[in-house]
Amino acid sequence: MPVTRIPADATDLLRRQDPELAGVLLGELARQSTTLQLIAAENFTSPAVLAALGSPLANKYAEGYPGARHHGGCEIVDVAERIARDRATALFGAAHANVQPHSGSAAVLAAYAALLRPGDTVLALGLPYGGHLTHGSPANFSGRWFDFVGYRVDPDTGLVDHEQLRTLARAHRPKAIVCGSIAYPRHLDYALFREVADEVGAYLIADAAHPMGLVAGGAAPNPVPYADIVCATTHKVLRGPRGGMLLCGEELAERVDRAVFPFTQGGAQMHTIAAKAVAFGEAATPAFAGYAHQVVANARVLAAGLAREGLAVTTGGTDTHLITADPAPLGVGGREARGLLAAAGIVLDSCALPRADVRGVRLGTAAVTTQGMREQEMAGVAALLAGVLRGRVEARRAREEVRELVTAFPPYPG
Ligand SMILES: *Cc1c(COP(=O)(O)O)cnc(C)c1O
Repeated sequence: MPVTRIPADATDLLRRQDPELAGVLLGELARQSTTLQLIAAENFTSPAVLAALGSPLANKYAEGYPGARHHGGCEIVDVAERIARDRATALFGAAHANVQPHSGSAAVLAAYAALLRPGDTVLALGLPYGGHLTHGSPANFSGRWFDFVGYRVDPDTGLVDHEQLRTLARAHRPKAIVCGSIAYPRHLDYALFREVADEVGAYLIADAAHPMGLVAGGAAPNPVPYADIVCATTHKVLRGPRGGMLLCGEELAERVDRAVFPFTQGGAQMHTIAAKAVAFGEAATPAFAGYAHQVVANARVLAAGLAREGLAVTTGGTDTHLITADPAPLGVGGREARGLLAAAGIVLDSCALPRADVRGVRLGTAAVTTQGMREQEMAGVAALLAGVLRGRVEARRAREEVRELVTAFPPYPG
C-alpha cells in the first residue's frame, strides 16, 4: 500500500518503544493518505509545523507573557512567542495579537471574558443556521452564562438576513454582536456588522475561525479593521497547529491578554505557539497566497459540479473554501449521505441548512488543495460523489477511484 511517511524519525522511535501506539499513528496516517479529506475545518500542516509541535518546547512551563512569566527559564520560549505575535500582527494588520488560546473555542471564551459580564445579551448567528457552539448553545458555557439572541440566514437565499439582524439589534440592544459561522460559504459584510454594532453601542466580535487562512492569503476580506476583537483558529485553512488566537487594537490588548491568562487558561503551550509562528511565517509567503486563491477556485468548481449533479448548493455557490448542499434531490438526506460517502472513502460532515429542519452535507477544499489537487480533480470528485449518492457507483469501486486519486496527491510525499 503506497502510504506516505511522516517526515520524522519520531514514528520509528515510537514503533520500537510502543508498537501499540505506533500502530495507531500509522493507521491514522494511512487513513488520511488513502481517503479523501473534505472536512471543511481540516487541513494538512507542513512538516515544519509538525516538527515544532514535536519539539522539546513541549516541556516548558510558561505561565504569563514574554518578559513577564511566572516560571524561570523562559528566555528562549519568550522569543518564540514574540515571533508568533509579531508575525500574526503583521500578517493580519492588527495592533495586538494573543497567540495563547488552546483552541478556537478558548479564543471565543476569552473574547467574551474580555468584553462581557455574565447575563449580558449577545447577538450571534443562530445555531440552526451555522452558529458555533460558542455562539450560545445551551450545552456550552456561552449559552449558560450569556443571554444569546440568534439572527438567521434567509431560508431562500441562504444569505445573512441583514434586515432581521438590524431589527434584533435595535430590539435587544446587545452588549456584543458576533459574526462568524461554521457553515457560511460567502464573505460576511463586516462593514455592515460594524455599522449595526455602532448604531446600538455593541462590541463587534468576528469569529473568523474558518476564513482566517483565506484572509492571510488575500483571498477573503479581513475583519481586523472592523471588529473590536477577531477570534480565529490556526488549524483550518490557515494550516497551522490546532489552536486559537485573538487579534485586537491597542486599547483592548491588556483586557484580552488577561482574559486568556490568568482568567481562562494556565500555562501557554510553547510547542504549539512555536508551531503557530512557523505557520504564520508560511502564510506570509507568495506561495501561500497562491494556495489560498486555489482553495477558493477549487471550491467554486466543486460547488458548480455538485449543482450540475443535482444537489441544492446553499447560496448557489461559494466565495470561500466551504460548501454546504442538500443532497435530497438525489434521494438521500445529509446524515445518510455522510455514511454512504464514508464507505466510499470520501470524508465530510453533515450540517444544518438554512431551512433548519433538514440536514445537508458540508465540505471544504483546504486539505485537498494542500495536496495539490486543482479544478480538474474537483470536477471529478463532484461526479464521483454524486454517483455514490445516486447508487450508480458502488462503494467498493468508489473507494478504488478515491485511492487512485489521493495516491497521486500524497499529503506528505515521502
Ligand atoms: C472551528 C470553530 C470554532 C472552534 O474551534 P475549536 O478549535 O474546535 O475549539 C469556533 N468558532 C467557529 C466559527 C469555528 O468554525
